[in-house]
Amino acid sequence: MTELSRIPLAGVIGSPIAHSKSPQLHRHWLKTYGIPGHYIPMDVSADNLENVLRTLPTMGFVGVNITIPHKEAVMEIADLITDRAILIGAANTLIFRKDGKIHADNTDGYGFIENLKAGAPSWNPRSGPAAVLGAGGAARAVMSSLLEAGVPEILLSNRTRVRAEVLQKEFGSRVRVFDWLQAGNMVDDAALLVNTTSLGMIGKPELRVPLDGLHATTVVTDLVYAPLKTKLLATAEEAGCVAVDGLGMLLHQAVPAFERWFGRRPDVDRATRAAALR
Ligand code: NAP
Repeated sequence: MTELSRIPLAGVIGSPIAHSKSPQLHRHWLKTYGIPGHYIPMDVSADNLENVLRTLPTMGFVGVNITIPHKEAVMEIADLITDRAILIGAANTLIFRKDGKIHADNTDGYGFIENLKAGAPSWNPRSGPAAVLGAGGAARAVMSSLLEAGVPEILLSNRTRVRAEVLQKEFGSRVRVFDWLQAGNMVDDAALLVNTTSLGMIGKPELRVPLDGLHATTVVTDLVYAPLKTKLLATAEEAGCVAVDGLGMLLHQAVPAFERWFGRRPDVDRATRAAALR
């Protein structure tokens, strides 16, 4: 078989990897668009990561998604890195170029904003501050995309305050840090409330930030998507807010990667959501 006639291969690398929804998602798109490719989950340890990444292109892989715990480590291995991945400090998408170079990108922030646009079309980034709960890896992607979209201010709170202060230093004067015990105070002024912590996820404690100050005009979104409707989103709906679940972020972040690897921009529609939930 010649280079040109090779069936394109892609996949997701993490450890553990069994929980990943990416295989269902990409396989759904491959089938929908009749593309003769494959998408494979791969459990790879940290000490074997570089070796695997240098070998995969020789086997017909056009790229891979990267998930926990390797999102930061691949930044040391990649030959080229997009500005947004540098800003976030982590990559979730690798493209194996024909010249042998590994190109790293981070599409989480893109996925976050596209999901918001789809779920809350009336939300205008410039309409007011965004309150962000959490200061982990996902928060970095969310914050960089919100600032790029033009939010006037980010109100940020994290259980471990120093992590929020590190992000404030990195992202600049449009970020104001609140103590975790005062996180409820951010809600009063927020046009958008985002949970980027793992609280509310199946098997984790509930998010206990007081939400009494929530206005019906505040858009509320949760990065947690298991369960799909978290307590935060249920409370937001009761308060009359537009509530946007986290599954759409997962779907939208996959769009640029699929397009680069397989040459077709996929749609995020009801069938895509259903495929990811199967
Ligand atoms: P991470 O880097 O490990 O950060 C975890 C965050 O949760 C930190 O801010 C941490 O606070 C906070 N946290 C954890 N346990 C807590 C507790 N008991 N009380 C208060 N805060 C707590 O993880 P991540 O990569 O940012 O991911 C965070 C969540 O986003 C996960 O649930 C992940 O599945 C989800 N996510 C979803 C998408 C999507 O596409 N929808 C994409 C990325 C991530 P400390 O700093 O104090 O530990």
